[in-house]
Amino acid sequence: MTKNSFTILGSAAGLPRPDRINSGYVLDLGGRLIQFDCGGGVPSAFRRVGFDPLAVERIIISHGHPDHVCDLPLFVQMLYLLGREELLVIHLPAELMEPIQNLFRVMYLFPEKLDWIEFASIDEKSPIEVNGATIRPIPNSHLKNEINEKYISENGLTNRMECYSYLIETDGKKIIYSADLGSEKDLFNHLAGIDFLVVESMHIDIGSLFEAADANEVRRIVLTHFDENFDAHAVMTLAEKAGVKNLFFGSDGLRLEF
Ligand SMILES: [Zn+2]
Repeated sequence: MTKNSFTILGSAAGLPRPDRINSGYVLDLGGRLIQFDCGGGVPSAFRRVGFDPLAVERIIISHGHPDHVCDLPLFVQMLYLLGREELLVIHLPAELMEPIQNLFRVMYLFPEKLDWIEFASIDEKSPIEVNGATIRPIPNSHLKNEINEKYISENGLTNRMECYSYLIETDGKKIIYSADLGSEKDLFNHLAGIDFLVVESMHIDIGSLFEAADANEVRRIVLTHFDENFDAHAVMTLAEKAGVKNLFFGSDGLRLEF
C-alpha cells in the first residue's frame, strides 16, 4: 500500500520568485487527494509532480491573500478541461464564499454550469471528515491587524480577517499545516503529539516556535514559505539552541511521507 503523504508544491512567500512558486500543498491519502491553497503556479506544479487532477476530492483554502488563492479559478478550469464530473468540494473561509463565486462567474466558470462543484464555508466547530481523515480548522491571527481593520471599517467592507491553520489527523498521525500565521503563538495550544509541523515561516518568531515545538515533542518541523532574504544558517542556529533536531526546509515538490 502506498504511504500517505503531504507534498509541498510551492515554497515561496508572497513575493513571486524566479525559483519557487507560491503556496500549494497536496494531502495524498492512498491516492485520494486534498489540495490545500492554490497560489500562483500551483496547477502546473500539481501536474509536474505527477498527481492526477481528477483524483482531487477537496480544495481547502486558508485565507484570501493572492499567494494562497489566486490560481483557484485556473485549478478549476484544469479540472473542467479534463472532463471532471465527480463532486469537488471547495472549502472557503466564510468571507470568501460570495466573492469567489462571483469571481468564478466573471471568469465564465459559472458555478451553475460546473454543477459538480460544491462550496462549503469553513467553520472551526465543524471538522472536515474525508477519506478517514479529520481536518480541523484552527483560526489564526494572520489577517487581524489595525491596518486591515482601518480599511475595512472606513470602506464598510465585508472582510472578516479570517485565516485558518489546519490540524490533519489520519491513521494515528497528526500533521499541522499552519498557512500564514499572525504569530507562532497561534499554534501553541495544538502542538502536542504532532508528527509533521509544516509552518509558513514569515511573520513569526522562529526561535520561539522551536522552543514550543521542542517542549511539546513535535517529531518533525518543516519550514516553508521563504522570501529571498531567508537565512537558513541563522535558523539552524536557532534550532540548535532550542534542541530541535528534526528540522527540514521546504522546497517545491518535497514529499513528506507519514
Ligand atoms: Zn497571507
